[in-house]
Amino acid sequence: MRSHLLNETTADLYRRTVTEGVDRVAAKLATTRRPHTGISVDELTPVIDGIDLDRPLGDASAALDELEDVYLRDAVYFHHPRYLGHLNCPVVIPAVVGEAVLSAVNSSLDTWDQSIGGTLIERRLIEWTARRIGLGEGADGVFTSGGSQSNFHALLLARDEACRIVMKRALDAGTELTKAELLPKLRIFTSEASHFSVQKSAAMLGLGYEAVIAVPVDRARRMDTSVLALELEECAAEGLFPMAVVATAGTTDFGSIDPLPEIARLASEHSAWMHVDAAYGCGLLVSPTRRHLLDGIEHADSVTVDYHKSFFQPVSSSAVLVRDRDTLKHATYHADYLNPRRMAEERIPNQVDKSIQTTRRFDALKLWMTLRVMGADGVGSLFDEVVGLAAAGWEILDADPRFEVVVKPQLSTLVFRYVPATDGDGPRPDLLDEAQLHARKALFASGEAVVAGTKVDGKQYLKFTLLNPQTTTADITAVLDLVAAHAEQFLGESLAVHH
Ligand SMILES: *Cc1c(COP(=O)(O)O)cnc(C)c1O
Repeated sequence: MRSHLLNETTADLYRRTVTEGVDRVAAKLATTRRPHTGISVDELTPVIDGIDLDRPLGDASAALDELEDVYLRDAVYFHHPRYLGHLNCPVVIPAVVGEAVLSAVNSSLDTWDQSIGGTLIERRLIEWTARRIGLGEGADGVFTSGGSQSNFHALLLARDEACRIVMKRALDAGTELTKAELLPKLRIFTSEASHFSVQKSAAMLGLGYEAVIAVPVDRARRMDTSVLALELEECAAEGLFPMAVVATAGTTDFGSIDPLPEIARLASEHSAWMHVDAAYGCGLLVSPTRRHLLDGIEHADSVTVDYHKSFFQPVSSSAVLVRDRDTLKHATYHADYLNPRRMAEERIPNQVDKSIQTTRRFDALKLWMTLRVMGADGVGSLFDEVVGLAAAGWEILDADPRFEVVVKPQLSTLVFRYVPATDGDGPRPDLLDEAQLHARKALFASGEAVVAGTKVDGKQYLKFTLLNPQTTTADITAVLDLVAAHAEQFLGESLAVHH
């Protein structure tokens, strides 16, 4: 069994085995004609259940053969130009090489003595990102597993900063306020189009879902800052504390970017922490032509970026950045066996002092390789392409009487629904909703394309998330025809049943 350990005696086996795996994937990518085979849960479950995990196959070739049936054949392929589903990007090759290197060397970035150069590379990339954002000289941050973790981490810092400041203010005024008394009084303001991880974070931080005030959005699905101003005043009037305002730079559904400068002004006026969730919009940081869409982000106290969304990086690759590195101390704990206080005094850079994870992947290497091979403009121009494609897609949808499209996109999503041409009232609203759901499902089952769905003002919509520069307007047109055909067929059949 020792022959399976990766070490100085197994370099050849390592090279052969990994190459074999790479060959299979390369062959798969070269021959994949659809984003998905359309397989169902009921079809695939017995295949996986049929594997006897107590009877190993002994070598990687056999396991790879088997993998064809249990995974590779039916996987959802994000690189396919007709994968228009969620916020998943095709990945760039330099990052995939980084991924292979980081898992083979297997550095863990919690302490300096487990990572050395990895620590410094991660720190350089955090510095690089913070500078692109414009957070100033005191900035810092850390890589995380994803946008949800980054948002949670940022709100944890915001909560503890709010507690520190409000409790001190009370003490200075001669009264004592405990953390337990304060927590139920904290409020987080975010738009109703923001990501659900804000609500989940509030719950996990002991504040409850009720702590989140959902601010309405305007027609472009951006936070309505006049309502935010009123809500912040009401918060103060009720003796509550505005812990944070969470702005979204690229909402998951609409790609809409909240008015960052105005939100920064209001947050500062009310002494609230400003967090910008740029999980999706962070690609604009490297855009050669659209960086201005993020103007105002430099005022943030913290920022979430998901390189695995708009930097074409493999999952996971994300970071949370803060304006003031001191605030990271709220997630610091010194353990004698790992990162004793003495080490911090000796200025040994232990990244675990900043992270809510302990053992942590060297995800930063993927971005490092990407920047060293392609450069920032290279990545940004890919993102620019998909933003341009979405603009062209909007023109197509807007001109097509079969569809209704919600907003002109700022980034790369299109939210739309099929509406049949009628002389009279048209189908019942519930039937029309079902037609959208049916079209999405039927499309997925056919494997021809993958699209997403969402609700807008209580009505069912479909969504294209465009993150693949290989996707063309011809793909968009073809998928729209498929959607319309499935929806039409559904409505035709339902009307026949009802008559
Ligand atoms: C995707 C997304 C997140 C969550 O990021 P994960 O990496 O999936 O955890 C948070 N906020 C926004 C706006 C997102 O689009």
